[in-house]
Amino acid sequence: MSDAKSTEQARRKPPQTKYDYSQGPPPVEINLSWCKACNICIALCPTQVFEPDRDGKPVLARPEYCTQCTLCWIHCPDLAITSNYK
Ligand code: SF4
Ligand code: SF4
Repeated sequence: MSDAKSTEQARRKPPQTKYDYSQGPPPVEINLSWCKACNICIALCPTQVFEPDRDGKPVLARPEYCTQCTLCWIHCPDLAITSNYK
């Protein structure tokens, strides 16, 4: 297997997380009225939980990938992200 192919497969593999979001609220909430679409959270999320919507604001495209790493909400300049689990 080529390095590029194995890297791609590793990137697509769901991360290990102790959280099961299937029975509860989503991993994080985004206050879209506070969000200014800076995309910092989308860029920083190590597991690609977010995708931008048509306005550039984050949507939870892959919530099951969230590891509660804290990066998105501690770096959001508008305090628009809160965790439902921490
Ligand atoms: S970091 Fe905050 S303000 Fe920036 S896109 Fe994400 S939620 Fe919106
Ligand atoms: S807590 Fe970490 S893994 Fe979860 S959405 Fe935010 S940056 Fe991504």
